Amino acid sequence: MPRTVHIIGAGLAGLSAAVRLATADHRVIVHEATAFAGGRCRSYHDASVGMTIDNGNHLLLSGNHAALEFLRTIGSEHRLIGPAAAEFPFLDLKSGAHWTLRFDDGRLPLWIFDPRRRVPGTRALDYISMARLLWPNPQKTVGETIACKGALYSGLIEPLLLAALNIDPPQGSARLAAAVIRETLAAGGRACRPLIARDGLAPTLIEPVLDYLRSRGAQIRLEHQLRTMRFESRRVAALDFGDENVALAEADAVILAVPPYAAASLVPGLTVPKEFRAIVNAHFRYAPSASQPPILGIINATTQWIFAFPGRLSVTVSAGDALLDTPREQLARTIWAEVAQAAALPAEAAADLPPWQIVRERRATFAATPEQDKRRPGARTAWRNLVLGGDWTNTGLPATIEGAIRSGNRAAALVSQMQP
Ligand SMILES: Cc1cc2nc3c(=O)[nH]c(=O)nc-3n(C[C@H](O)[C@H](O)[C@H](O)COP(=O)(O)OP(=O)(O)OC[C@H]3O[C@@H](n4cnc5c(N)ncnc54)[C@H](O)[C@@H]3O)c2cc1C
Repeated sequence: MPRTVHIIGAGLAGLSAAVRLATADHRVIVHEATAFAGGRCRSYHDASVGMTIDNGNHLLLSGNHAALEFLRTIGSEHRLIGPAAAEFPFLDLKSGAHWTLRFDDGRLPLWIFDPRRRVPGTRALDYISMARLLWPNPQKTVGETIACKGALYSGLIEPLLLAALNIDPPQGSARLAAAVIRETLAAGGRACRPLIARDGLAPTLIEPVLDYLRSRGAQIRLEHQLRTMRFESRRVAALDFGDENVALAEADAVILAVPPYAAASLVPGLTVPKEFRAIVNAHFRYAPSASQPPILGIINATTQWIFAFPGRLSVTVSAGDALLDTPREQLARTIWAEVAQAAALPAEAAADLPPWQIVRERRATFAATPEQDKRRPGARTAWRNLVLGGDWTNTGLPATIEGAIRSGNRAAALVSQMQP
């Protein structure tokens, strides 16, 4: 008889575990507390801008091998778009300087010797001194490992780490920064091509995975929140969903792929990260011109990245905690003025705030400090049929789609190896 695997949480960690397990050997049931799948990676219809938008702009890189394999499996890889080569245009809003980082495809970083392809005002030697970040003391912060100042820092290291770690880089874990740099810059341009879900996160990632799972007999139960688990003889014996109590057979397993605060309330004695950082996104219904790059990095402004989508310009501000209390319209106006300047919009467009929305995700990711990183548990638990998934488990990566999917794959592998 196939074993039943209950996956709690339909974020990317839970869904990727489900993809790995939805085979003849397992009966997969995904239980999701809310009315939608996708967790922190979702699309919704927004009445203010009058279109379907994502809760936040999500960037993948071509080196995110687990994420790309996931997309290939569910038949959705073609929905990601990006340039043919690893190119990142940047604009310094204060000085007006603009440049495009162009990495070499291979690992040999010849671009650092080419003033037209590296950060303006830097020398090749500056890049070599940053290599210290590749083999850091894992207990230290980025600020304790490298000098967080100068043109190379503000033109490359700061925007890269701010986006990947979602924390002001000097406070960030050097171990997590090293993992990011090893898998991106140090792996060469082939690993650094930026990729975005142009038509939205739901049509690219979530709807195809739900179709894939349903076609393989998996059940997706929305609005089905796990309230408590009953533990017995070092295993989970039953799941309590409030309106329904599910007893587990000896061979059955549970993958708990919920956020850390939810996991801590369900599993006794679990140590989890308890500090978070916000991400703020501003969406404007304004059709970008054909010359607007799909992704533009902005320096010396509130805006950090401008994404161009069909009919819409969207801005991401990572580690945006300082903006949580700013009145929404004030924030929209500040960011729109920066977007208008960066996109060189005509004066009347700049003065006229288009339909907008501000989405503030307070607990977008755990705070990627060395202290919080140490609190991340592995996938195994003290209970033999319970494993953990989620971007906050100890994946060795910051909280990203790639980390979430790797954690789901790992959880699925552990369940497959469990003795009935
Ligand atoms: C605004 C924003 C921008 C981001 N940008 C990027 C980016 O550019 N690139 C990138 O790689 N990553 C980005 N991320 C991070 C990425 O979204 C996350 O790492 C990833 O989605 C986490 O997936 P997860 O499955 O671990 O967790 P979640 O998505 O949080 O999924 C957990 C699920 O569990 C459900 N749940 C909770 N409690 C229960 C319960 N008791 N019973 C049943 N279900 C429950 C929740 O409702 C949720 O659906 C961003 C995140 C945000 C918020």
